[in-house]
Amino acid sequence: MENKVLSIVIPCYNEENSILDLVKKVNESPIKNKEIIVVDDCSKDNTRAILEKDVKPLVSQIIYHEVNQGKGAALRTGFKHATGDAVIIQDADLEYDPNEYPLVVEPIFNNEADVVYGSRYLNQKRKGYLANRVANWFLTKLSNVFTGLKLTDMETCYKCFKREVIQSIDLVENRFGFEPEVTSKLARKGIKVKEVPISYYPRTNEEGKKIGFKDGLRAIYCIWKYR
Ligand code: UDP
Ligand code: MG
Repeated sequence: MENKVLSIVIPCYNEENSILDLVKKVNESPIKNKEIIVVDDCSKDNTRAILEKDVKPLVSQIIYHEVNQGKGAALRTGFKHATGDAVIIQDADLEYDPNEYPLVVEPIFNNEADVVYGSRYLNQKRKGYLANRVANWFLTKLSNVFTGLKLTDMETCYKCFKREVIQSIDLVENRFGFEPEVTSKLARKGIKVKEVPISYYPRTNEEGKKIGFKDGLRAIYCIWKYR
């Protein structure tokens, strides 16, 4: 437990307003041994300059995509390079709180679980766009029908895996289809997913939120496709 390492994979696309603050928070989070991997998904704003100048000294690795491919593709790149005992996904915005890593990571470090999802809807006040909440609720329920899991938040960003587990799953979805895809593929392998409550501070579209209606439709398709 004491000497276990957490790999934090940060997919990052046009996040000039938050990436530096986020990486600082990740660094200050209460996990002793961290490997921070940023995957820049071909940002077109000032993100790359910030990464090269300010973020580089604070992280283990920055990998640059030559074309923008989507969150799923950025995560695949990050997972490939991870060497820690556990791997957690961290968006490059400030919607989730790195201070809560222990909640999600400790069951894995303690060998109580292979995969832990942080749920925004267990014991939490309602937050975020109503449309997004309804969509997340619906997609989670639909995913549960096909996977047999009993999740409350399939679309959560805070997914933490034993490194060997995530590296053994063959992933293909480039964009936000990653969430239902990985959930289905874990279920098909008979891997149990533990959920723990976490906090959520949603941002608006104006603040850079990129997920949209089309991604919801794609999620429905992915739930079916990878069932
Ligand atoms: N992202 C990416 N490539 C893209 C779009 C998004 O790497 O083409 C990253 C983005 O920078 C963020 C994460 O994926 O760190 C999730 O994006 P967002 O916060 O917009 O979506 P949500 O939190 O609603 O799932
Ligand atoms: Mg986000």
